[in-house]
Amino acid sequence: MSRPDLLARLAAAQADRAQAALLRRLRTVDAVDGTDIVVAGRRLTGFASNDYLGLAGHPELVEALATAARRWGVGAGAAHLLGGHREEHAALEEALARWTGRARALLFSTGYMANLGVLQAVLARGDLCVQDKLNHACLIDGAHLAGAVLRRYPHADVAAAQRQLDTAPAAPALVASDGVFSMDGDVAPLPALADLCRTHGASLMIDDAHGLGVLGPEGAGSLAEAGLDEAAAPILMATLGKALGVAGAFVAGPAALIEGLVQFARPHVYTTAMPPALAAATRVAVRLAREESWRRQHLAALIAQFRLGAAQRGLALAASRTPIQPVLVGASDAALAAAQALEAAGFFVPAIRPPTVPAGSARLRVTLSAAHRQSDVERLLDALARVLR
Ligand SMILES: *Cc1c(COP(=O)(O)O)cnc(C)c1O
Repeated sequence: MSRPDLLARLAAAQADRAQAALLRRLRTVDAVDGTDIVVAGRRLTGFASNDYLGLAGHPELVEALATAARRWGVGAGAAHLLGGHREEHAALEEALARWTGRARALLFSTGYMANLGVLQAVLARGDLCVQDKLNHACLIDGAHLAGAVLRRYPHADVAAAQRQLDTAPAAPALVASDGVFSMDGDVAPLPALADLCRTHGASLMIDDAHGLGVLGPEGAGSLAEAGLDEAAAPILMATLGKALGVAGAFVAGPAALIEGLVQFARPHVYTTAMPPALAAATRVAVRLAREESWRRQHLAALIAQFRLGAAQRGLALAASRTPIQPVLVGASDAALAAAQALEAAGFFVPAIRPPTVPAGSARLRVTLSAAHRQSDVERLLDALARVLR
């Protein structure tokens, strides 16, 4: 018997992807200047980053990082439970809990790990996990990891979610949804999901990676905007690498949730704590995100400008009021060609293709930032109209 070779199979899968215009390519960015990036020796205006408030390069964050690194060193050196949990982490957790109006918060090294950790800790084998079809990959992976029965409802279809809950009325159940959908930019039907959970005895988990800093009073996120407190939505997860411009993630909610995660969330227990200096920089980001509302105002103006300009030019946009403004193309090869043409014109806008998005819905994922100028957006609109004509 000859055993198939794993790496040969991987290479064959890669060849299939290339055939279908689905191959991914790692690009190295040589320099960053505000929203501009230098790739392959060319300066491009970037519309790809999730740095929605323009904080990633902020001098105060850089200074806080450097100062804290001098005090704490670079690495935490250990897991949180084994001496890696520093004053900087505790202070950041308090600041995040206060901002989001939750009792407690717990840091994770990445959003991906936070979602795996929550789902694996709260769900037992055979429990029901009901999720939006367009949820982020790590929510799906977390449900698989937990051994839960995963049911995925058509995007934003709360009636379908209810039918899925009704299939197992006695099983412990979690309903999980992105707050803002990462590839479409629309906001989940949060009040309806909260009602559904209340009437069906399920717990609600919201991944607000793209809502925190952007939506709600002081940027406290999509749940704050919808007026849903900890009782209505007990599990809030959000990332620190998007609007806050740093890296990492947190889960916020009642003390019982956080205590349970400290015990049982394996991606929290068995991993090195985030560098304390990152926590210090993030605390500055939280303060700026809360206080400097002009960032959200400018961003909102750019979003309105982009949508109006796109409509005037006949571009197909998704129904999004957030900084994620996908321009729908359809075929993967066409989306790729459009991204390449935009790059030739001086813009970095990624083509997003299956399996990241459903088949036939390839798109240019334009993201806007408070660091963009109106003139950047105007130039992009003209280039999009030329390229997609
Ligand atoms: C980016 C993202 C994550 C993962 O967060 P990282 O910190 O980048 O690992 C999780 N959920 C959603 C919705 C995201 O957009």
